[in-house]
Amino acid sequence: MNTKSRSAKSVRKLESGPIRNYKLPEYPFVAPPELQNKQVKHHPIVIVGAGLSGLTLACKLAQLGIPAVLLDEDNTVGVKGASSRGICYTQQSLEIFKRLGIHDRIASKGIAWHVGRTFAGQDEVFSFDLRDRQEFSVSEQPPFTNIQQFYIEWFLVDRIQALNQAGAAIDIRWKSKVTDFSQNAHAATLSVSTPQGPYTIQATHVIDATGSHTPFHAWCGVTMDSKRGDDRWCIADVRFKNTPPTERHTWIEAPFNDNRAVWQHLMADDVWRIDYQMAPDADPAYVSREDVVRERLAKQFGKDVACDIVWVGPYAYKSQCLHQLRHERVFFIGDTAKVVSPFGARGGNTGIADADNLAWKLAAVMRGMAPAALLHTYNQERLQAARRNVQVTNRTARYLRAPEGVERLFRSATIGLAKQHPFARLLINTGRMAEANTYAVSDICKPEGGWMVQNARIQFTPDHQGTLSDLLNWTQGRLLLLVFGKLRSSDMKKLSLLSLSAPVRVVQVVHKDKPQALEHVIDPHKHLRRACQASSTGWALLRPDAYLAARGRQVDNKLIAAIAQALALQ
Ligand SMILES: Cc1cc2nc3c(=O)[nH]c(=O)nc-3n(C[C@H](O)[C@H](O)[C@H](O)COP(=O)(O)OP(=O)(O)OC[C@H]3O[C@@H](n4cnc5c(N)ncnc54)[C@H](O)[C@@H]3O)c2cc1C
Repeated sequence: MNTKSRSAKSVRKLESGPIRNYKLPEYPFVAPPELQNKQVKHHPIVIVGAGLSGLTLACKLAQLGIPAVLLDEDNTVGVKGASSRGICYTQQSLEIFKRLGIHDRIASKGIAWHVGRTFAGQDEVFSFDLRDRQEFSVSEQPPFTNIQQFYIEWFLVDRIQALNQAGAAIDIRWKSKVTDFSQNAHAATLSVSTPQGPYTIQATHVIDATGSHTPFHAWCGVTMDSKRGDDRWCIADVRFKNTPPTERHTWIEAPFNDNRAVWQHLMADDVWRIDYQMAPDADPAYVSREDVVRERLAKQFGKDVACDIVWVGPYAYKSQCLHQLRHERVFFIGDTAKVVSPFGARGGNTGIADADNLAWKLAAVMRGMAPAALLHTYNQERLQAARRNVQVTNRTARYLRAPEGVERLFRSATIGLAKQHPFARLLINTGRMAEANTYAVSDICKPEGGWMVQNARIQFTPDHQGTLSDLLNWTQGRLLLLVFGKLRSSDMKKLSLLSLSAPVRVVQVVHKDKPQALEHVIDPHKHLRRACQASSTGWALLRPDAYLAARGRQVDNKLIAAIAQALALQ
């Protein structure tokens, strides 16, 4: 694998959209061994699609030392001509990126916003400050960061390349489009088209991360629920001479947009995303014409508004969810698993979570730490998340494009009430922001696990600070057993034996007491214990994706059973 030549990049402008103002990296095509030797090679994992989901999965596998081939038909980040699409990233995603080693770049480039205001007509209906909610949070990451999606993808590519330099084996192949696929008991076979001709590749596992227009649905004959509405939107990404306040503003009914909805958010590079709801079935070519966009901006910000238009993008959305997220050798992640409307930022964020869920399971199975049955739990857990996200976003979409009749009446009533009565504000639905999904049903984290533990701050020594993410990275894909408080010597013996014999790393978490175990951390403010909701002398078993597998009080058979259960060993 020639990582060096692949890391070379030049910069090009985005090729479509009426206004071209973003510069993206361009990665070279490098002929793979299959083209040079004309031999069909078998790979354990082939990921198709280097978008947000595929790159997150590849980066996690790189970190865990699992080799994979990553194919993408394009040679840059972002989807052709689609600007940044996603802008808003949740605490869960930011924690995942922290573990992957790109959070610092995201934090320094992105915008951590706190204040949100919702308007209807001329009135502010309500506002919130996310910092007020932070008193319940022990995460080191903010609730949200706004940054263009392509920056995250760019950082992920850079990170994979850096991990490759350090010995990882992720073979990213740009300009490599999968054109055909079949699978049988022995392997999956993919046809790949490249600038230097086609070749065939085989794989044990295929990850479909090709986005909402995936060809794999047809190739696999999947079944799904799918619905497309007539709601139309048009994005204007703009840079102002005089900037508005760094707040998230949403209008349910904007007087300057024919009483339709409008979103206003700041992202990196001082670029504002203004997202306008259009008339049903509006003509995309007309609504994205520069003079028409400028007219809309003038209506909102005044006729003398001085701004550069960075990008304009009309879009419609659909809602779609597969009935199963696995089809024999193929796993569906991101937009191939489900497609949601953008309200609440649930599309990309849940694709990132899909990738994080699948990566450690693939690694555990490939290393022989867990049986293949562990992979079935990807469908069990992430299908619940997909269905929930489809349900939540569908509700918002119906609220924002409320049909005439009872739903429109309900919406008007909620707006009227919310202006005067705080209780009614909960009914205003301009998007329920994404959050880490919990798994009510999971064979590997029952009866009380299945929720994500926040990235709490800890100390390795009084002078050496860290976070839970450091501990999770240190396990290298194993389970993490946190034992709180003082230990009996008999428990100490059992735990040392456990860490020698099972794929689990044991860490004692002390508050003020002296540590007894070799591996220990200090939890000075009890944030880690609070994040695990553990008792002062109990234990918490965490998976590599920071989900709680189980917790208990005694070092006994229940703990051994929980470890076996978390790895689908029983
Ligand atoms: C207007 C808008 C705003 C949004 N805002 C947010 C937001 O704030 N937060 C959020 O989380 N989400 C948001 N989303 C959703 C988010 O953009 C998507 O959910 C996300 O891009 C899905 O990522 P993905 O990796 O699954 O697919 P994609 O990003 O679509 O990536 C698919 C990749 O597969 C490649 N590919 C396709 N076909 C092939 C093939 N045959 N062979 C090889 N490669 C192939 C493509 O080149 C591409 O790189 C928004 C979406 C829109 C439209």
